Amino acid sequence: MRLAVLRERRVFETRVAATPDTVKKLTGLGLEVVVETGAGQGASIADADFAAAGARIASDPADALAGAGILFAVAAPEPEIRAMIPRGCLLVATIGAFGDPGQVAALAEAGIDAVAMELLPRITRAQSMDVLSSQANLAGYRGVIEAAAAFARGFPMMMTAAGTVAPARVFVIGAGVAGLQAIATARRMGAIVSATDVRPAAKEEIASLGATYVGVEDEESRAAQTAGGYAKEMSEAFRARQAELMATTVAKNDIVVCTALVMGRKAPVIVTAAMVGAMRAGSVIIDLAADAGGNCALTQPGASILTENGVQVLGWRNWPGRIPVASSQLYARNLLTFLTTFWDKEARAPKLPESDEIVKGVALTRAGAVVHRDFLPAAAA
Ligand code: NAD
Repeated sequence: MRLAVLRERRVFETRVAATPDTVKKLTGLGLEVVVETGAGQGASIADADFAAAGARIASDPADALAGAGILFAVAAPEPEIRAMIPRGCLLVATIGAFGDPGQVAALAEAGIDAVAMELLPRITRAQSMDVLSSQANLAGYRGVIEAAAAFARGFPMMMTAAGTVAPARVFVIGAGVAGLQAIATARRMGAIVSATDVRPAAKEEIASLGATYVGVEDEESRAAQTAGGYAKEMSEAFRARQAELMATTVAKNDIVVCTALVMGRKAPVIVTAAMVGAMRAGSVIIDLAADAGGNCALTQPGASILTENGVQVLGWRNWPGRIPVASSQLYARNLLTFLTTFWDKEARAPKLPESDEIVKGVALTRAGAVVHRDFLPAAAA
């Protein structure tokens, strides 16, 4: 069976869904791996590295996809690529199904068996396939590195003969995977760190990393976590109380790292224009939630802006793509683990049992139909 890996086509995408290391393991399963030329360029992997690992290099997507039984991708394929994917092909990618539900129907219509890795259930067995975690962790790290580069004073306290430079104050909004890594990274660099989250479990995690917890604690926040581990969307009343606390906290900090997300929805706006207006000149806001609209009202997804009062708001899209060697390495591993978990050794083909909890979570389409409960056509739901 052929497994294809294409060059990603989004302009800001640098990652690739396989590495020479995973190609070796995939060919070891008995797969013929075909990689489109240039696929690894953004992640510093040359065609020759893929070829040395056992892949055939294809000159274009049509060549790579001809007869393919599996396609590994970072993002969902664009319509013109989708049209080249053979019917019955298993597509494993971060589809972004909630952001573009129309695409789910299009994949079904094209007869592609699509697996949306972002919908993986947060259970122990799935941890090593968890693309959201592997990528969010790196985004959290990278965000703080970019904050440090943009901040003109430095992070640690520096006591010199010429005087003392005060440490930076970093405030992290959302203490999930990205936020916790941001806290740890900022602490390692010598900043004074505080953080907030709505999930009650986060308080202890924030403290265990040596940061100060800041947050509204009430009945609603005590019930703010879904069974799946994600945050719930909070009420207007909660958001108002949170806003008061945020206003005083944001103004006191030099760097704000935004990471708050609500699965399947637009990111909550937590840092308002007025809060940014109260920050000191030279402050930096890093919006890791920019792909979901952003946690800061001034964020322009895909851009860096400088406000009138001298605050930089970095709202880059695809933060994991800004550290592409590591993010490709971990993403490719996540996909390999998914495939090997559902690999039928005798048939030398993937086998996705419909009753499996992981498969139920990620399978979007099968044999020409939408099968995921969240995307069933209204009449059938
Ligand atoms: P996420 O990326 O969906 O959101 C980031 C953080 O933002 C979360 O901690 C969330 O609570 C917070 N948030 C949402 N709305 C907010 C608001 N209005 N104000 C402040 N904060 C807000 O989250 P994630 O990083 O994917 O992690 C979600 C949970 O899943 C965590 O508990 C994490 O530890 C858990 N997790 C479990 C596994 C596993 O067991 N396999 C793997 C990864 C993550």
